[in-house]
Amino acid sequence: MNTTRWPYPVLHLKPGKEALLSKRHPWVYSRALAQAPDAVLVRLADASGRILGVGTASPDNALAARLFRFEDAPLDEAFFRARLESALVLRKELGLWASRGGCRWVFGEGDGLPGLVVDRYAQALVVQVGTAGLEALRELWWPLLFEIGQREGLSVFVERSQAGRREEGLEPVNRLLKGSLSGPVTVREGPAKLTVDLLRGQKTGFFLDQREHRLQVGRLSQGKRVLNAFGYTGGFSVHAGLGGALEVATLDSSAPALDQADQDWAANGLDPAAHLRMEGDAFELLRQLEPMSWDRVIVDPPAFAKQRKDVDKAFKAYKDVFRLGARATAPGGMLWCFSCSQHLDRARFQEVVWTALLEAGRDARVLAHLGQPSDHPYSLNHPEGFYLKGLWLRVE
Ligand code: SAH
Repeated sequence: MNTTRWPYPVLHLKPGKEALLSKRHPWVYSRALAQAPDAVLVRLADASGRILGVGTASPDNALAARLFRFEDAPLDEAFFRARLESALVLRKELGLWASRGGCRWVFGEGDGLPGLVVDRYAQALVVQVGTAGLEALRELWWPLLFEIGQREGLSVFVERSQAGRREEGLEPVNRLLKGSLSGPVTVREGPAKLTVDLLRGQKTGFFLDQREHRLQVGRLSQGKRVLNAFGYTGGFSVHAGLGGALEVATLDSSAPALDQADQDWAANGLDPAAHLRMEGDAFELLRQLEPMSWDRVIVDPPAFAKQRKDVDKAFKAYKDVFRLGARATAPGGMLWCFSCSQHLDRARFQEVVWTALLEAGRDARVLAHLGQPSDHPYSLNHPEGFYLKGLWLRVE
């Protein structure tokens, strides 16, 4: 039953399962439900029939329902307009909404729109839809996104897949929705010009969430040798180069990403002889490096724990790459360790970095705990929205 007509069907919780929802946590797991959802838009009720909120649902997903509002009211045009505009106002206040810049406009639950991600790259928007419910409501939100986007001077609209679509019975997507695209787009990030391939790049084309940390590395690179492990298209590398690094290595397993890194390095007016390309598996290549030879080392691996059950296995993988990163760091150098696995919490993350440094036989001091930037906000009611963690270390 895929009607978008209000009122949506009622989906009941099992008795006593309303505790999290009463704290305005937006997620409902299938084990809390009295029956499997048979509609993608639902009014969620406690066992007595009292409506607690309205959202999207899926019969096959363990994450069975996601609430958009904690009141008995429809997900209509006025609702989407208010949420999209409010998210936009925040990005403008943050100073991140710029005609040539990159910025996340909508970050799912963090902007009260579970399952929807929208990134801006200069004149282009990239949308990701993660749920069947949002898919059913496309005729409501997509014209709004297009209208507001056009008003904001955007002309290219692209759609990319989001992890988790399969659980919602959705096919992968990768397409141009509106406008024309002759190739990758360029965004400004501080002093750097970075290239984003909207249709072929990873995720929505780029990792906007590392913006602040790339700028920071840029400020700390004068006269240094910088190793950028899991470097993708070399964002950290270009910033380091512009910041005056003597030599920068970008290490990644993706050849197209490294091609882009080389091109961006040159496009930013940097000397190609100072950029080293290391293509291959980080676990192998980091082992081959001369120990203690890099002044600045960034280790930004992909999410090794995609599910909660993977955390123990992921712990070892993170530990190995952080240990190898520490080994490569010169005495008195700086090491940045990152994890974008939501399932590895802050405490576990610090433990993995600590263990890695112990195994490397290196002492280190924490200069700062790092996290995701303000255009990736998460609700206090939804701690799962906090995913990016970093430790900035001085290694002795
Ligand atoms: N730091 C980057 C984003 C890194 S995303 C930025 O600021 O843009 C993680 C990267 O790790 C991806 O580019 C992916 O291609 C790469 N990767 C994944 N597994 C890898 C492996 N085993 N060895 C080397 N690179 C890997």
